[in-house]
Amino acid sequence: MCGIVGYVGRRPAAPILLDGLSKLEYRGYDSAGLAVWADGGINVQKTKGRLSNLYNATDGGKTPYGFMGIGHTRWATHGEPSDINSHPHTSQDGNFAVVHNGIIENYLPLRRKLEAKGFSFRSETDTEVISHLFEYYYSGNLIEATVKVMHRLEGSYALGVLCEDFPDRFVAVRKSSPLICADGEDESFIASDVTAILPYTRSVYYLNDGEIALVGTDGISFYNTDCEEIKKEHTFIEWDISAAEKGGYEHFMMKEIEEQPKAVADTVSPRIKDGKITLDGFNLTARELEKVGKIHIAACGSAYHAGIVGKYVIEQLCRISVEVDVASEFRYRNPIINEGDLVIVISQSGETADTLAALREAKARGAKTLAIVNVVGSTIALEADSILYTHAGPEIAVATTKAYSTQLALLYLLAADMAEKLGRISGERYSELVDEIEKLPEKIGEILKNKEYVQYLASKFYSSESIFFIGRNTDYAVSLEGSLKLKEISYIHSEAYAAGELKHGTISLIENGTPTVAVMTGKRLFAKTASNAEEVKSRGGIIVAVICESERSEASFCDHIIRIPDTDEVLAPSLAVIPLQLFSYYTASLKGLDIDKPRNLAKSVTVE
Ligand code: GLU
Repeated sequence: MCGIVGYVGRRPAAPILLDGLSKLEYRGYDSAGLAVWADGGINVQKTKGRLSNLYNATDGGKTPYGFMGIGHTRWATHGEPSDINSHPHTSQDGNFAVVHNGIIENYLPLRRKLEAKGFSFRSETDTEVISHLFEYYYSGNLIEATVKVMHRLEGSYALGVLCEDFPDRFVAVRKSSPLICADGEDESFIASDVTAILPYTRSVYYLNDGEIALVGTDGISFYNTDCEEIKKEHTFIEWDISAAEKGGYEHFMMKEIEEQPKAVADTVSPRIKDGKITLDGFNLTARELEKVGKIHIAACGSAYHAGIVGKYVIEQLCRISVEVDVASEFRYRNPIINEGDLVIVISQSGETADTLAALREAKARGAKTLAIVNVVGSTIALEADSILYTHAGPEIAVATTKAYSTQLALLYLLAADMAEKLGRISGERYSELVDEIEKLPEKIGEILKNKEYVQYLASKFYSSESIFFIGRNTDYAVSLEGSLKLKEISYIHSEAYAAGELKHGTISLIENGTPTVAVMTGKRLFAKTASNAEEVKSRGGIIVAVICESERSEASFCDHIIRIPDTDEVLAPSLAVIPLQLFSYYTASLKGLDIDKPRNLAKSVTVE
């Protein structure tokens, strides 16, 4: 959640901070602020509300005028969004200014202690304890003070810290919250993610938990918690800034929907050579796989829905039992993990707090862990035993589309690869699957050529109060994602049900005119879902069906049919989800809503 940007160099800092923060707006925020070292001291400006307020308060970045600063967009966790609670927070003596992303879990006892020592607090935030702790521990050595502060903090944090005594360098540190450092010529940066610094440099350092960066005009030095200097390798960011810009689209979400053929191809193609899957980063031998008694998948939101598809596909192909958990449940339910179990965590950002905690829980219980992550160098990617990156590129819209699609693609590759190694599918079936996986990008592209019909359907239903989604097996898994997408951006109440479950309760909600989207790509269960759709229809519901091109079964119960290209039954979610994403997009657009930044939601949920 929220965003941090820091700059030190030869250019005025405030415009760079404002520009960087605008790139991080997509992460969600409720207030913004900055601190700049100017006129011999630290100058702070902060306001509740949109970044435009901060822009006005700083005269478009003309003031404060200085060459080093830190900026912040806040997503309040402790204390309402207000000017006072906005970051940066300063120490009592004004010698320190701090921006913080995350939650300090032990802030109350710390606050009580500091108050007893005479510190008075101005805000209700957990963050303010950090600025006072810096004052308390500082005696001339910034790194030593940082280490002492870190030892006192429990919870998660990414911090940028200015100290008035140092006009050309500042401190950055992180624990379980994203922060990268970057350097250019005579200038250095920090940011919550690379999109904020890409216009200036591509040379990036990924900070590990507990590492401290001293970010200066003349470069960045890194320290461990023993105050010893450590060496870090930089990474060169390949992708272009245009990948993180709208490029003529009205919304990032539509741009990202359209990017799916490429994103899936980029994820799949490098991993298939001469009809064979090679998963660098996850190479368990057949012997090691034999020992995997059970697979657990833990994830949140859409990644969790990808995990449910994964369950059906892995169980079907590999005949290994798979349990899928919402990560926030997994971490606290004392999960039963036996020796040899494999735990897969899925997260676009690689920083999702609950998923990270699930990963740590799994490791602590001795499981092998595999992460499927989009953001290179993110905490989850660094901590998992094995990592498979989705190559979706930067995803800016809060509602995920291309990251979800690439997660599915990786799960298919993984399932097919494991099934083959274990000898659970024939060589012929394996080749068929690999072939079909390779064709997915083209087929997604075909669906995207015919958006108008989905747009027409959205125009019929955008004023509905409730929309249901039903399906069986993988069609059910994809229904969950279609329903979530609709809720997220169109604010229409929606539920997804396993089609056979509908009559055990939810069917009582079907009234005259209630739209129900029936996903019916599976041949084997087509007739079963058809009966459930009939049940809805006979209670006045309207049926919109998603059906494969060659399906010729009687479908007179459908009011509207969206056809998608044929594919292998286990891979159909990759195609079925596309019209569902488009339906949500057009519905939200007709309602005039803020599609890329839906209310109350943030892109990367780095708090519990
Ligand atoms: N917990 C801090 C606050 O409420 C920081 C929240 C954030 O990550 O923006 O101010």
